[in-house]
Amino acid sequence: MTAPVVIIGAGPAGLSCAAALAEAGREVVILDENRQAGGQYFRQLPAAFSADYRRLPHDRKGYAALAQVLARPGVRFLRDTTVWSAVAPHCIAYAGREGSGRIDASAVVLATGAQDLPMPFPGWTLPGVISAGGCLNLVKGQGLVPQGRVVVAGNGPLVLVTAATLIAAGAQVVAVHEAQRAARLLPASMRGLWAAPGILRQALAYRAAMLRAGVPMRFGHMVAEVSGREALESVTVARIGPDGRPDDRRQTLEADILVTGYGLVPGSEPARLFGCRMRFEPSLNGAVPERSGTFETSVAGVYAIGDGAGIGGVKVAIIEGRIAAHAILGQGVPAPLRRDHGRLDRFRRSLNLAYRLASPLNAATPDTIVCRCEALKLAELQSHPRLQTGNLNALKTATRLGMGRCQGRNCLPAAPTLLGLAPDDLATRPRVRPPLRPIPLGQIAADRDARPVPEPDEPQIPQTGETP
Ligand SMILES: Cc1cc2nc3c(=O)[nH]c(=O)nc-3n(C[C@H](O)[C@H](O)[C@H](O)COP(=O)(O)OP(=O)(O)OC[C@H]3O[C@@H](n4cnc5c(N)ncnc54)[C@H](O)[C@@H]3O)c2cc1C
Repeated sequence: MTAPVVIIGAGPAGLSCAAALAEAGREVVILDENRQAGGQYFRQLPAAFSADYRRLPHDRKGYAALAQVLARPGVRFLRDTTVWSAVAPHCIAYAGREGSGRIDASAVVLATGAQDLPMPFPGWTLPGVISAGGCLNLVKGQGLVPQGRVVVAGNGPLVLVTAATLIAAGAQVVAVHEAQRAARLLPASMRGLWAAPGILRQALAYRAAMLRAGVPMRFGHMVAEVSGREALESVTVARIGPDGRPDDRRQTLEADILVTGYGLVPGSEPARLFGCRMRFEPSLNGAVPERSGTFETSVAGVYAIGDGAGIGGVKVAIIEGRIAAHAILGQGVPAPLRRDHGRLDRFRRSLNLAYRLASPLNAATPDTIVCRCEALKLAELQSHPRLQTGNLNALKTATRLGMGRCQGRNCLPAAPTLLGLAPDDLATRPRVRPPLRPIPLGQIAADRDARPVPEPDEPQIPQTGETP
């Protein structure tokens, strides 16, 4: 009997891959740490919610079409379940409410999505400051809408999405600040006219919603600092200097909530844990797995699709899921699918480049907390002798940077910029170790298929760019 295909992530990429595989009669196991399938874009309200949430923006038809796969025979969906380790290239360990165990797979598909790129600035840990992804998750996944005056600031398409979603949900958005200059974004918009008219139409609809609501949008500005006694009271925005730092042309706005979205980074930890070869992607300022034309990584039978392999948006994620399924089934990829992917992928690359700033943004001052789990300030890290090695992993082991509950997701992506380290030196990045996400020990202990766990210093699968 052929082992199932294991898909990690029930977002648009994972669901579309599962649908194509199930259609061909392949057994599939999909795992997601969320209770509801859908990922970021199709995030669902809990099934038990009964209030009228029609005002919340949701592509219900799109989700219903994708989610049909979960009811197909041969498809098993493990919800509320985290994949926490790659025990071998084709064996994953999972833990969650539906039990814990390991699954041997004929192929593994990493469809784990992206996360917010944090940008520390003075005051960013104050209550009232929230990331765009976190805020959208609360709106779309819990029906929670921020109260009071909301400022949205950031860099990239998510700024528009966030502002328009909040307005539609009834929030009082008072200002929107995009870091890129408007003139840099125009050429990419023109290319969108023929490459991705649907996406351009949606962006224009978001902008129109802001205009209708009378929300001013300024370009070429970033958050310099925020202040407040116990919670956020005001936001200071500034023009951006050539070095990516806020300059002296500043304006202070009174606000209750600041939503920041300074970009997304592919969640590449699972790919690193599986030992996939990684490369630095300049337009994302982050690492992505190397992939073949059908999205197989350097590890045979391990595929990486969707935002976890490069930020492409929902349409690219869906197409990548289908292409990977064709490859797993040993079928050629239909030419129209390849053409659609090429067209959208070129557009997303040009969009990523259009939003890319001359220098990475950096508003941190010596007193700014960089690692919020371990309360480490920038000055402590800058003055640590290990920084002289230029090795972020060495600095981590000496200072506990990135060793807290978030496992570095909130500090490590921004650390090279803040500490003046080469962004593309992947060999000196901290290793990824199981568990991929914090999980209760009881769930690991409940592992039905437990075998001896290797010592922490003996990762079973060698990772790319490991440093001793
Ligand atoms: C924070 C955020 C908010 C966004 N909001 C919007 C929006 O409002 N509108 C819009 O147009 N686009 C939005 N985008 C972009 C859009 O959502 C994505 O392009 C699209 O969802 C990508 O699909 P995906 O399947 O690749 O990843 P995702 O949709 O992110 O799905 C990945 C799934 O993998 C699961 N997962 C990850 N790691 C594990 C693990 N170890 N174990 C188990 N499960 C795991 C996650 O729970 C998630 O459900 C957002 C992106 C992000 C990162």
